[in-house]
Amino acid sequence: MVEEIIQQLFSKYPSSIYGFTSISYSLYASQYKSALVFAVPYGEQLTIKNYTEERFERGIQDAKKIIEEILVQIEEILNEHKVKYYIPPVAQSNEEELVAPFSFKYAAVNAGLGWIGKNDVVITEKYGPRVRLSAILIDSQFGYGQRIIKSNCPDSCIKCVQICPYNALHDVKWNIDALRNDIIDYQLCNQKRSLYIKKHGRKNACGLCMVACPIGT
Ligand code: SF4
Ligand code: SF4
Repeated sequence: MVEEIIQQLFSKYPSSIYGFTSISYSLYASQYKSALVFAVPYGEQLTIKNYTEERFERGIQDAKKIIEEILVQIEEILNEHKVKYYIPPVAQSNEEELVAPFSFKYAAVNAGLGWIGKNDVVITEKYGPRVRLSAILIDSQFGYGQRIIKSNCPDSCIKCVQICPYNALHDVKWNIDALRNDIIDYQLCNQKRSLYIKKHGRKNACGLCMVACPIGT
């Protein structure tokens, strides 16, 4: 019942991609059975030819607005049906470990939305990495997506690796057992992006390793 209503909601957002996964692997498993994960394309699907950091950031903000709009409606549905849920925070609360309490990326591959690219970002067939992810934990069971366990990046592709100005990407093809540190020096990426906080009032949105990706263009 709730699943059908959520499906109807997403039919109003045909550009979004969504799926459900069991979260039996997660720390939240004792409280919630499932996660609904969804990906909203960035406002502008930039390529390396038309990329600017400001345009990239704007595209992220546009996607965030749509995510908020969708989340409000999902909350209404779940409240109405008295289903327990929790919206986990997007970002890590700890600048040292840089790990969010619930990984949207891991949930996305488990729900079948995409794989993790050599840029350490979820790659969808439709948009490549040019999406913003969101997730909501729900104490109910759903029809789950087909878990993706290996990368679909072409063997020869290293576009994202080559374009990183700081060599933060290790040219490692992901599989479900890979660790983040195998793929990216995330501390380095974060540290370099944080250098812009004074200038932008926020971290640099750096999307170079995303806009370089040929998938979804
Ligand atoms: S976001 Fe920028 S700095 Fe970080 S890995 Fe990608 S290209 Fe490198
Ligand atoms: S640029 Fe190539 S290697 Fe990097 S994520 Fe995209 S397809 Fe994969």
